[in-house]
Amino acid sequence: MTPVKVPFLDLVKPHAELESELVDAFRRALHTAAFIGGAAVESFEKDFASYCHAKYCVGVASGTDALRFTLYAAGIKVGDAVITVPNTFIATAEAISQTGARPYFVDVHESTYNMDPAKLREFLESKCTRDAQGVVRTQDGLQVRAVVPVHLYGQMADMDAIMSIAEEFGLVVVEDACQAHGAEYFSKKHNTWLRAGSIGFAAAFSFYPGKNLGACGEAGAVTTNNEEAAGKMRMIRDHGQAKKYFHDIEGYNGRLDAIQAGILGIKLKHLPDWNKRRQDLARSYNEIFKSSDVTITTPFEPSWSRAVYHLYVVQVDDRESVQEGLSAAGIGTAIHYPVPLHEQKAYAALGYQKGDFPVAERIAPRILSLPMFPQMTVEQQRYVTEKLASLVVRHVAAFA
Ligand SMILES: *Cc1c(COP(=O)(O)O)cnc(C)c1O
Repeated sequence: MTPVKVPFLDLVKPHAELESELVDAFRRALHTAAFIGGAAVESFEKDFASYCHAKYCVGVASGTDALRFTLYAAGIKVGDAVITVPNTFIATAEAISQTGARPYFVDVHESTYNMDPAKLREFLESKCTRDAQGVVRTQDGLQVRAVVPVHLYGQMADMDAIMSIAEEFGLVVVEDACQAHGAEYFSKKHNTWLRAGSIGFAAAFSFYPGKNLGACGEAGAVTTNNEEAAGKMRMIRDHGQAKKYFHDIEGYNGRLDAIQAGILGIKLKHLPDWNKRRQDLARSYNEIFKSSDVTITTPFEPSWSRAVYHLYVVQVDDRESVQEGLSAAGIGTAIHYPVPLHEQKAYAALGYQKGDFPVAERIAPRILSLPMFPQMTVEQQRYVTEKLASLVVRHVAAFA
């Protein structure tokens, strides 16, 4: 086994740096026995809403719950259909199915890997019929009610375009912001930079430990500017209770626990610096690859985007051997994601076929996520770029 020289992600260092503060948060919870709800949760919700430039934040147990509760609050139910992209983590589609709705996919844009508004429009115009109720998918008569753009890898989808199509067709927009804490989008419509989580009906965030803002366990949150939706989600996360043991609706056990909220509150103060460091690392990756003679496709950041680089994803030829070569040099990498959702066994029943989403299918075997975490050193990054360059060049030479 090669010793790890550059891990894909280092979760030990940031927690070691904050250890005494984090332990204090745990101690505070112990001393007050406020484990569920209470001041720590409320204070984090207030701080995170303000960080996202949103009016309300509802802490929940995971990003998946955040997506699911948002869709419930939007009234999505059995017999509805919800549109998302095929190149996302399965949780996006699971949340849709688990409300009883059916997920439909539209392909992504070649350079951003995010939902292509032109494909969204094409789906609505060519595969759907409009009636008095709204938009119905012609083939199965399901009513298309919502669209879930995913801000993949920390870069926002083209929200002006998606919002205006959604408005035109009467669809609810739920942002999957699980990888995009702090990402920004320049809205021409509002003539200002807008943050992930402040644009759609509501947005889902995950605080899974490896995310840009991560808990020391499972956690998530919804942000929204809609007061009624926020109130409904507070009920849904807590068994539909309006007050204790008075249940207006059926809900879930999906609360954010107070220890995690205390921890998240401490880590949130560091998020702007951590995101800045990720952006600096991404820029220097780009510059190094541009100046060397390598066949690597680096991430594309449109002028309207300020990405927070949850992941730094490149495209390479012969990905498998490049990944093995990096691993042999002690460099950790990952693939997000190797199999698009429409080709997963779990979604065989949706009836999609290979070829249905050419862009997602073309990139899936070529993408490679390089080490990216705020504590990565300049030396570590140089080592990664040198090894990668040598592998890519050698690979080209082998076929010359
Ligand atoms: C992490 C993630 C989720 C799910 O979040 P959990 O907290 O793990 O439930 C959903 N969507 C995307 C795009 C994610 O990256």
